[in-house]
Amino acid sequence: MKNSSIILQNETILNVGLDDTDSPNGMCTTFLCYKIVKFLEKQNIEFVDFPYLIRFNPNIPWKTRGNGAVRLTIRTKNPKKIKEKITQFVANYSDTKNGANPGLVFFQSKEIPASFHKFSKLALWKLISRKHAKQFVSENNIESFYLGNGQGLVGAISAVGYKFSDHTFELLSYRKKSQFGKKRSISENSVKKMQSVTFPETFSSYDNESDRVLITPHGPDPVFYGIRGETVKSVVRASTIVNTDEKLDGYMVFKSNQGTGDHLKNELKINDLKPYTSGFFVGEVCSKPVTEQGGHVFFSIQVKDGKIRCAVYKPTKITKIAQDLITGDKIQIGGGIRKASKNYGRILNVEFLHVLQLAKHNLTTNPTCRKCNKRMKSKGSKQGFECAKCGNRSFSKTTLEIPRKIQCKLYIPSVSAHRHLTRPYQRIKKRNKNIQFNDSIPWIHIF
Ligand SMILES: [Zn+2]
Repeated sequence: MKNSSIILQNETILNVGLDDTDSPNGMCTTFLCYKIVKFLEKQNIEFVDFPYLIRFNPNIPWKTRGNGAVRLTIRTKNPKKIKEKITQFVANYSDTKNGANPGLVFFQSKEIPASFHKFSKLALWKLISRKHAKQFVSENNIESFYLGNGQGLVGAISAVGYKFSDHTFELLSYRKKSQFGKKRSISENSVKKMQSVTFPETFSSYDNESDRVLITPHGPDPVFYGIRGETVKSVVRASTIVNTDEKLDGYMVFKSNQGTGDHLKNELKINDLKPYTSGFFVGEVCSKPVTEQGGHVFFSIQVKDGKIRCAVYKPTKITKIAQDLITGDKIQIGGGIRKASKNYGRILNVEFLHVLQLAKHNLTTNPTCRKCNKRMKSKGSKQGFECAKCGNRSFSKTTLEIPRKIQCKLYIPSVSAHRHLTRPYQRIKKRNKNIQFNDSIPWIHIF
């Protein structure tokens, strides 16, 4: 029998954070992680948690695709060798030629210090500079490695420091190398079927409204599809329902903050508003919504410390809701701050719209003649009104309350316009408790 206390003395928990190894032309940080896990499986190590796929602020300008970083947590007797190997993987496979700026962080401890959590929390909704990341690394004496400008250190530190308050899973399947860059062929019906069988245990797989498959990326990266869901079991099961023509290399399941809306939890302040931050405001609509070219809707809201212009874009399919807002409506509204341009000031690009209180939509009109049911004519300033048919008179205007078309509720964009972090309708009240890691269902599988 093993004596566990002795094992703990010789073994170390190693946390590995990794980010920005990909470029728009190829690679994918999750795929590099999959390669590293395939290697680690052959070593004398033990996984102590699922791989993490953590999405950070989606509103920063230099993200590749989804601004996602990964983390691995293992138990090893030989951390030195493992760290060297992983560093080699990052150096060999990062797409630095096409602009990747990979960052890699190692942290040997069972407990993650509060400073990491704090850094990670900020990376969810702010723009964190690489200078800040490098400073963090040196101040805390953290083992790290980077190439290019080192921007990837931000995500690498943040992935290690991420604390889940809710989580989901994503099963990512990977292509064989010979298939990279080729068109993906997937049975649309099988995806539709998978969703109908597994929903709400899986989410955002198929857009029934516009008949679109949402699980396949379109770029040259090695991912064939990604299935998002509530448990390892649900995403693995769902993957057995999906049919592809192509023989895939394998899959890996990541624990993730996707679908948690985590980036929009902070209330933003107008007088401390930086471009590219994400968060929400609570305020009153103070300008009539205007539909501009392209069908996008713009309006302003008055919040505690100022005004902010809001943009609801056509693809969100909630422009109709925005158009029906009127001055005085109380709303909570979340999204990302677009940098001011020459023609426009800062704008909030809306990612959700929660109507808290509807103002009365009153219309004052000339009174109606009770006898003839005809609208009366004004006799001139302060002269009252008169019915043209029977001569009946009245002195005051009447107020007409127009029924509102929108409700006091939360409106989110159409599933096709969701970001990785968007909390879908069926997850509004759902919170997954941090589950214990277990191997009962294979979270990595090579076909
Ligand atoms: Zn009349």
